Amino acid sequence: METTLKVKLISHTLNPELVIATAGKLCYSPSNIDDLMEKQTDESIERFVNMITSIGHGSVLEHTSFTFGIEGVSRSLTHQLVRHRIASYSQQSQRYVKETQFEYVMPQDIKNNPILEQSYKKHMEDSQRLYDEIVDKLMYDYVYNEKEYGKLVDIQLKKCKIDKEEFEVWKKENKSCDTFVESLRSTYKRLCSALEKKAIENARYIFPNACETKIICTMNLRSLINFCHHRCCRRAQEEINKLAWTMVEEIEKVSPLLAKSLGASCQFGPCPEGDMCCMMPYEKKNK
Ligand SMILES: Cc1cc2nc3c(=O)[nH]c(=O)nc-3n(C[C@H](O)[C@H](O)[C@H](O)COP(=O)(O)OP(=O)(O)OC[C@H]3O[C@@H](n4cnc5c(N)ncnc54)[C@H](O)[C@@H]3O)c2cc1C
Repeated sequence: METTLKVKLISHTLNPELVIATAGKLCYSPSNIDDLMEKQTDESIERFVNMITSIGHGSVLEHTSFTFGIEGVSRSLTHQLVRHRIASYSQQSQRYVKETQFEYVMPQDIKNNPILEQSYKKHMEDSQRLYDEIVDKLMYDYVYNEKEYGKLVDIQLKKCKIDKEEFEVWKKENKSCDTFVESLRSTYKRLCSALEKKAIENARYIFPNACETKIICTMNLRSLINFCHHRCCRRAQEEINKLAWTMVEEIEKVSPLLAKSLGASCQFGPCPEGDMCCMMPYEKKNK
């Protein structure tokens, strides 16, 4: 099934504007920190934040961070996202989470062509079928290919406190059984989970880049500015471009002032893309 982008700012530094303004002012003031914080007004905070973001006093911006919950994105996208190294990530694992009915992202250009759209959907359905088949067949192999996996199963039997002789009897009874996996699950639940985990970490190799994933991402404001310069740019790929702008919208909800520093490079200076410039610059942002 096709999925859609969902982005939520799930947490951020308390009073991010005050923290930035105070950290910035501290650099140029003999006062103590309590005094600096108490003396800040809405006007002084705005003045300092604007000054710091425009002169590029970047380290001050690192004191505030933003955590986004991101769902309905492709593995293609997250591969691009995690290239932004100055950030923290936690992503749903395909090794531990079985894709019982994986969702996928479809690029708009493919959706615009009904024939390609159909082939694309079919490829996704075929991928799911092959994945399911690989998982089931590997689990069967783990149990019955003793030469290759005997040791692995023996260890699991010990861990799951299963009597080996009893298990051998069960194996004989279920060898030609079509519902082998269901039978294993209902009789030896823990063993089944352990073998399934090993099977899915192999089966996942057949998934397409389009496969949906979920990721939590934390960036400080300096890194977020850099991320947006690159990914709000029209040259960025459609999916990550949409993500970047949605992240800006999320920041706007909590701090319109800080959101002013977020956008494509061309909104703050000349386009850095050279010959690859899109020739459709965004409106400049005035600080
Ligand atoms: C349009 C576009 C096309 C791209 N195409 C490709 C491609 O074809 N192939 C490809 O591999 N990547 C590609 N990328 C990814 C790109 O090269 C960067 O890896 C990605 O944008 C992350 O940017 P960053 O390094 O600035 O971010 P971060 O990793 O978050 O780094 C932030 C900043 O910290 C500093 N920094 C971080 N690490 C180091 C370091 N080790 N040494 C010195 N300074 C450091 C730099 O100033 C950097 O800008 C593309 C990106 C875009 C936007």
